[in-house]
Amino acid sequence: MSKNETKNRKDLIESATKSLLDMFASGNLPPAIARTVIAAKKGYNIPSVNWSLGNQILMLAAGTTDARGYAQWKKVGRYVKKGSKAIYILGPCTKKITDEESGEEKVIITGFKGIPVYRYEDTEGEDIPTVDYAPPELPPLVEVAKKYGVKVQYGPSTGRFYGCYRPSDNSILLCTHDVDTFFHELAHAIHGTIRPLKGGQHQDQEVVAETVATVLCILYGYDGYVYQGFDYIKHYAQEHTANGVIKAIMKVLADVQAVLKLILDASDADKKMLNNIAV
Ligand SMILES: [Zn+2]
Repeated sequence: MSKNETKNRKDLIESATKSLLDMFASGNLPPAIARTVIAAKKGYNIPSVNWSLGNQILMLAAGTTDARGYAQWKKVGRYVKKGSKAIYILGPCTKKITDEESGEEKVIITGFKGIPVYRYEDTEGEDIPTVDYAPPELPPLVEVAKKYGVKVQYGPSTGRFYGCYRPSDNSILLCTHDVDTFFHELAHAIHGTIRPLKGGQHQDQEVVAETVATVLCILYGYDGYVYQGFDYIKHYAQEHTANGVIKAIMKVLADVQAVLKLILDASDADKKMLNNIAV
């Protein structure tokens, strides 16, 4: 990389971040485009499609779109690999009782218990039909994920769950083809190479990831997601105002710029963009 290129990239990051902050401060945002999610494909007899929403989210958060009990896997000729850990979903404990007056038998729920299920990825054996939920064209910067060894998977959506990054196996799961969600999770992954990530949705980490994602949306021409970025950061800011958003970003600006630099340094596609942009 030439000295000139490095300087251009630094200018590019600074000017794009500045234009984002200007947009946020003025409230002059490009029109938002609607969110989309990936619909589950029917006809594959995956047991989890009948699970409760909470159990489906537990499964997706474990980085898989197909989890089943030991016996369910055995039925389709697959076996759980040695040393694999179970995911515990919640199932009702039921009891049959007889109604004293009518003499009728009925089933009542007495509580909930954890049921162990295993990820498709942790099984081996016969091939079963699988569903590819990836978009026909992968998003920009997917090569950056590859260079950092981050696995990117797509799966069907369960309600308001768009995606997640799992530090434990360095993988991203996306339930939408929306580019900004991929940018957001990629930002978490790269942020994790600078400092250890805290578990769950930590305020500062979310602001870093979403600011990086929104700047990338501007750079790659997905302006329609700027509004969503603003809304998301506002949710995590101390004060839920435009001013609060700017303050929240300023607090983590050094990390935002460091993550952007690492992402653009590892990208293939930005040379043309660097030449085109007026800094
Ligand atoms: Zn996040």
